[in-house]
Amino acid sequence: MKLILLGAPGAGKGTQAEVICNALNIPAISTGNIIREALRLGTEMGLKAKSFMDAGQLVPDDVVIGIIKERLAKDDCANGFILDGFPRTIPQAEALDAMGIIIDKVIDIEVPDEKIAARMSGRRVCKDCGASYHLEYKTPESEGVCDACSGELVQRKDDAPETVLDRLAVYHEQTEPLKEFYSKKGILRIVEGQEEIADTSALTLKALED
Ligand code: ADP
Ligand code: ZN
Repeated sequence: MKLILLGAPGAGKGTQAEVICNALNIPAISTGNIIREALRLGTEMGLKAKSFMDAGQLVPDDVVIGIIKERLAKDDCANGFILDGFPRTIPQAEALDAMGIIIDKVIDIEVPDEKIAARMSGRRVCKDCGASYHLEYKTPESEGVCDACSGELVQRKDDAPETVLDRLAVYHEQTEPLKEFYSKKGILRIVEGQEEIADTSALTLKALED
């Protein structure tokens, strides 16, 4: 199955991508994670992306389309994949079409704007491996320490309150039109984000069936 997860920043796409990954045993591919990893490694692509990302703006289409092309060519994508955070613009969606990729379903996680800022302020990420946590919804076993690698948990620079509003504006302007793009193809499924992650996960798995 080839899936896309849509939704505002902080809506919980990454968490739901993991849920689907475990349920269907297909890789979850996050362009945000790939870019952050490139930043940590100091690659040319990472350096190119940094200023856009830090400012809460989208990284240019040609850069992310290149990232996705390279990633989808890997063997583990043969039986399907979940795209988390791609596409984020109409040209990115058109690039997938041009690659001949037929998407089965697009799951759109809806969370009202008023709730986004509060959710994002609690988000933490492992400095070393990039795993994500939340002070309220997804706490690590030991405070401030990554369960997976014992790395330090920090706040992402672009999760700072002043950047969150910019990211939301970018989402409404550039990413939200994708709902209509995929709704026209008849493959859009809406999931209302719930207070409890488990409740959202149940709705996501149900959405995969219809
Ligand atoms: P979130 O989890 O908040 O949705 P991501 O980790 O997916 O955020 O993305 C963080 C940042 O990485 C974005 O604000 C943007 O700068 C960059 N980015 C990730 N995916 C894309 C994409 N498909 N197109 C453009 N920029 C992207
Ligand atoms: Zn870690």
